[in-house]
Amino acid sequence: MMNKKLHFFQSIHFKIALVFALLLFLAFQIVGAVFVQRLRNENLKQFKQSVEMPAYVNSLLVTQLTEADTTEANDKIKNILEDINNNNISDLQIIDAKGVIRGEINVNNRSVIGQKSTNTYVKQVLYSGRTFTQTTYNERTNQRYYVSITPLFNNNGNNNSTVVGAIYIRANLESVYDSVNDVTVIFVTAALIATAIGLALAILISNAITRPIDEMKKQTARIARGDYSGQVHIYGSDELGQLAQAVNNLSTRVQEAQEGIESERRRLDLILAHMSDGVIATDRGGKITIINEMACESLDVTPDEVRGKSILDVLNIRDKYSIRELLESQDELILDELNSRRDQILNANFSLIQRRSGFIIGIVCVLHDITEQQRIDRERRQFVSNVSHELRTPLTSMRSYIEALNEGAWKDEEIAPTFLKVTQEETDRMIRMINDLLSLSRMDLGKVELDLELVNLNELFNYILNRFDMMLEKDNNDTREIKKNYTIKRDFTDKDLWVEIDTDKIIQVVDNIMNNAIKYSPDGGVITCRLLETHNHVIMSISDQGLGMPKKELAHIFERFYRVDKARSRAQGGTGLGLAISKEVIEMHHGRIWVDSTEGKGSTFYISLPYEEYAEGDLWDEE
Ligand code: ADP
Repeated sequence: MMNKKLHFFQSIHFKIALVFALLLFLAFQIVGAVFVQRLRNENLKQFKQSVEMPAYVNSLLVTQLTEADTTEANDKIKNILEDINNNNISDLQIIDAKGVIRGEINVNNRSVIGQKSTNTYVKQVLYSGRTFTQTTYNERTNQRYYVSITPLFNNNGNNNSTVVGAIYIRANLESVYDSVNDVTVIFVTAALIATAIGLALAILISNAITRPIDEMKKQTARIARGDYSGQVHIYGSDELGQLAQAVNNLSTRVQEAQEGIESERRRLDLILAHMSDGVIATDRGGKITIINEMACESLDVTPDEVRGKSILDVLNIRDKYSIRELLESQDELILDELNSRRDQILNANFSLIQRRSGFIIGIVCVLHDITEQQRIDRERRQFVSNVSHELRTPLTSMRSYIEALNEGAWKDEEIAPTFLKVTQEETDRMIRMINDLLSLSRMDLGKVELDLELVNLNELFNYILNRFDMMLEKDNNDTREIKKNYTIKRDFTDKDLWVEIDTDKIIQVVDNIMNNAIKYSPDGGVITCRLLETHNHVIMSISDQGLGMPKKELAHIFERFYRVDKARSRAQGGTGLGLAISKEVIEMHHGRIWVDSTEGKGSTFYISLPYEEYAEGDLWDEE
């Protein structure tokens, strides 16, 4: 549209020239018309004056007309008329009061003297005594005539003057009109020439005016196309120059604004792309216009797939909400547990995009993945319920024992010590559990710091296992619950493996796993302990020949309170927290703990810790 070629006749250029020329022409016309009119009137006036008889001739004629001797008078009149040498007059008649023609000047030389005038106007003048004038047009000869009939009065000293005759004059007006026409022709010619020159000048001038306008038009068209490189040439400091300057400024501003918008858009794109929340923007009708990567990922769609589709369908909430409801609710709408195609729980937060006037342009929906949050919440609730349950069981059994003692069992020397022992054991277990819970809680809160030292793991592992061997030896006077025979086999690397660990905590972990191995092993089982190194890890493993565990349980046994066989664990005094604590401790060491087990055959627990081999001299160099 902008680039439509302008016809020359449609251009301002032409219009200015045309208006200018027309104005010039009109001005000439008006001036000419007034001038010609005045000239004609003036000429006519002069002409009329020139054909009127002078006063002295009139009085001479009056004298002759009042003479009684008409023949003599007629001769005198003839003489008087002959003296009048007026070329303008083509017909002249002297008529007496009776209407008889007494003298004449006639171009046709056909004498009518003595005849009665047939002209009615003459009669009128003779009767009324008032001058009569008329302009006539002879169609045959195509000529205009001026006719004047003037009464002649006999003014004999007193007031009563009488009409004694009339002078009839007929004069050809063409000479007057011819001269006026000549002037008119000159005038029109001059006007046409002036208009033509004016038009040419106007074209030149308007060209000077419209050239900058034309340039500005082209520049604005370029701006509209997004090309800001051009500049309008500034020809002067007049209004057009200022306009050109304004166009140049506009061009710069538009460019700046455009660049601003562009970089803003890029920034927005970047923000949207890197947001950890999904963002969907729609138009007024709820059709999706923008969707970021995260939203696509959460909803398992591609941007092209959903662009233009209704947000209700994409979020699968058409049966719960309408676009109107989303638009009209000024508050944010939170859709909990919005089921996406994946096993994810998304929280959709809707807000409106509005113009300053309040007009709603669309909706923005922010999708927040709350799966993890929900999982943590669930786990927390589960944990609280587990703790309560774990504490209630021993307390209930203790109460029944105490009740029994209270009801008289304390007197029974055989039962009483057993009951008291069970109560004590349950109390011990509860204390252990609460201690375990406390240390787990401290680790959760990040309050536990490792007391790291460089330890030869070969030596440490050996030391721990030696303690278990010794426990076996003094088994007879031991008060522990575990009274079982077992053999510990060692399969260790010869190398000293120096690792940086919190010795007490690692001892606690190995103790726990060893205790479990003994707990869940048959009497006389062999427990094989291995120590080996990979290029950046040391791995300790403890294998038993016990019950083992079903494969599906393996993933869970490091969870808090998780026990494969609850009754058995409890009977053995287990808290169900040992492996959970072990896992936390090993992970604090940036290590890993896992289990491999075959049901009925036994289990192997592995602990791997990061290890960096020191050159022989390194240790001594440090000191
Ligand atoms: P508990 O105090 O019950 O032993 P743990 O956290 O130490 O708690 O162990 C969790 C569960 O893992 C135990 O209840 C048991 O079912 C299983 N478990 C642990 N070690 C072994 C093992 N060596 N053999 C078989 N099952 C085991």
